[in-house]
Formats: sequence, structure tokens, C-alpha cells
Amino acid sequence: MKVLVINCGSSSLKYQLIDSDSEEVIAKGLCERITIEGSMLTHQVPGKDKVEVKSPMPDHKAAVSMVLDMLTSSEHGVISDLSEIGAVGHRVVHGGEKFAKSVVIDDDVIKAIAECNDLAPLHNPANLIGIEACKACMPNVPMVAVFDTAFHQTMPKKAYLYGLPYEYYEDYKVRRYGFHGTSHSFVSKRCIELLNLDPKNSKVIVCHLGNGASISAVLNGESVDTSMGLTPLEGLIMGTRSGDIDPAIMEFLANKLNVGIPEIMNILNKKSGVAGLSKIGSDFRDLGAAADNGDELAITTLDTYSYRVAKYIGAYAAAMNGVDAICFTAGIGENNTTVRNKVSEYLGYLGVVMDESKRDFRGEEGELTAPDSKVKVMLIPTNEELAIARETVALV
Ligand code: ADP
Repeated sequence: MKVLVINCGSSSLKYQLIDSDSEEVIAKGLCERITIEGSMLTHQVPGKDKVEVKSPMPDHKAAVSMVLDMLTSSEHGVISDLSEIGAVGHRVVHGGEKFAKSVVIDDDVIKAIAECNDLAPLHNPANLIGIEACKACMPNVPMVAVFDTAFHQTMPKKAYLYGLPYEYYEDYKVRRYGFHGTSHSFVSKRCIELLNLDPKNSKVIVCHLGNGASISAVLNGESVDTSMGLTPLEGLIMGTRSGDIDPAIMEFLANKLNVGIPEIMNILNKKSGVAGLSKIGSDFRDLGAAADNGDELAITTLDTYSYRVAKYIGAYAAAMNGVDAICFTAGIGENNTTVRNKVSEYLGYLGVVMDESKRDFRGEEGELTAPDSKVKVMLIPTNEELAIARETVALV
């Protein structure tokens, strides 16, 4: 079956058409600046040059129409007719406590996703717009919602509750949810498979280190803890997000800077993390280059980032009373050997023995530890689109 995977943001829409039998990408692309002047579609068929089309996209329906036209176009298309698309899988950021699994989308599901909007006000409404736009263009094609939060719904109460008055959980569902669930699920399953672990007796830690970053503890195939919380702001230091801070810093800074909560949130989400700390930016390639040139702040930033990752690994080894394997994934986890090697330096107490010949290994699946290492360290590239396509096929 051919599955169209859609990841719709407020002004962008990423898509991949995947052949679920061969699991190969047939075409992929991105609509940018939807609803804004200068809209553009970039479309790519593997092995061929990228195609860029600049054309107004006044709304998301126009963007979906352009994608479908491109997929069926005589020049750059990959299918002759829309009827070849067997299903659409949508990434949805927040499923709250309502969704512990992916679901086939119907009117009730759309309503329930909308009820989670206040938990992810920037993301969920955009995801819903993408769903509605696809429904309008392909009314008879089954669609599935795959939630970033669903995999972590197995977390026990002791892991998801905050030390806040319990009525805020009862009344407003203020608790930890976690994100990147599709990736944590995909990578932990692949790790169990690769290392031939017993799925019902396995302890895996997944470090998803991208622009957004989170770690999860996966016990017997189920998420039992993860570093992001009510929102993706909690946990690791990220590209531009602060991760864990003393909450009192918010009032302290609000007074010093004479700003309100919205600006403080903007600082914590967009101006902090390695970008704020290093004064360079959020891209680890730039940070690495600066550190190589002796930039003290860049070196300190990489140290601080890696130290936080190592602390979470320690916490999750404790939460599971041990660990069989630690996986690195996403842009930084898959490519940045500096961070990975720095984190690995903290893991000796677990019995981790790194394979020195793998210090520069990157970009593909592989084991990074020596044969006598008690705990395995793995590099497993994530593939969230493929995971969404698999979930979609399983449900339709
Ligand atoms: P997102 O959360 O936006 O999907 P990614 O998983 O793409 O983020 O990760 C982005 C980060 O990964 C950037 O800091 C970037 O420097 C790093 N990265 C991505 N690809 C490479 C690469 N080929 N070499 C080194 N670093 C990379």
C-alpha cells in the first residue's frame, strides 16, 4: 500500500509518500510559508533533482492540493492517480490522556484532538488543519492519527506526577506527558531486535538528540519515564529550549528584565538552550566548529549539554534498576561524535566499554561498544515517517 505521511505545522507541511511493502520513500517534500507571502513547495523523488515551485498557498488546503498535484503530475509525479494512495498517516503532537495508541480518524477523534489543543496550542490546531485539509482533498481515503505523546502513556503515576497540588492534575491534567514517542518507540524496538534482547525482559534508554531533545527509559518495551513534561520545554538542554531550570528563575528574570510571562516563555523556548548559552546558535555543527577553534563558551556549552544527557542516563538506569542498552538517535545523536563521546565518558560505572575504533562512527546503524561491554551503546537512526506509515497500515 502507498501511505502518505503528513506532518503539518502552523505554516509548514512536510510529507512523504511511502511504499509500505518495500518501506521505501517514493517521494517527499515540504510546503513552507503557508498563509504567508512567498509560499514554496520543495518536492523530491529519490535519485532525482529537487523541484521547487513558488506559488501562493493561502491556506493548508491549497498546500495539500499542491502536494497532490505534484504527486500525480506528468513531469515530476510518482503515481498516476490519487486512488493509489491507500491511507494517510498524520503526526499529531498532543493526545493528552485520551490517546495511548494511534487511531483511525473520525469525527469523534477530531473532537478529542481539539480538546487537547490547550495542552499544545502551537501544534495541535495546526495538526488538525492538516487533517481537515486532507479530508477535503481526499474524502474517501482512510486517515490515521499518530501521537507524539502516545508511547509514553504507559508511564506510571510516580513518573508523570509533578510535586504540585493534586487538584491541578485532577482539574487541568497538569502532568508529564513526554514527546518524540514515535521515535522512542521505533528506536527502542529496533534496539531490542538488533541486540536480540527479550522484549519482555529488557531495559533500554533512548537519547533522541535533535533540535528538540528527550530521553526515555523503556522497560520491557514500554516507556516508564521520559524527560519532556507537560510541554517539550522540560528535560535536556536543547537547540533553543532551556530544559530543566529552577522555576523561580522565571520570576527573578521577569523582575530584572521587566517583562511578563509571555516574554519569559519566549526566552525559555526560543532564546535559551545551546543557542543562548553559547551565544553562537542552535546548530551543533557551528558549535563544534567554534569549539575546535578554541571558543571557550562553545566548549563549555558542549560540556554542559553532554553532562545533562549523562545525568538523565544515570537517572533512568536507576529508575529501571539497570540498563541493557543506551541508544543515540536524531540529528545530533546520529552525527555529533563530540557529544556522544563526551556522554560516553560518564558511563564507565555502568560497565560501558566503548569501542575506540568507533569514535568517529556516524550516520548509520551500529554498535559503539566493545564486545566485553556490560551495557551496549548503539547508534540507531530514527525514522518517524516510516513509524507513522507502519502504524497507519496496521490500523487500516
Ligand atoms: P529536528 O528536531 O529539527 O528534527 P534534527 O534531528 O535534524 O532536528 O537535529 C538537528 C541537529 O542535528 C542540528 O544541531 C545539527 O547540527 C545536527 N545535525 C544534523 N545533521 C547533521 C550532520 N550531518 N552532521 C552533523 N550534525 C548534524
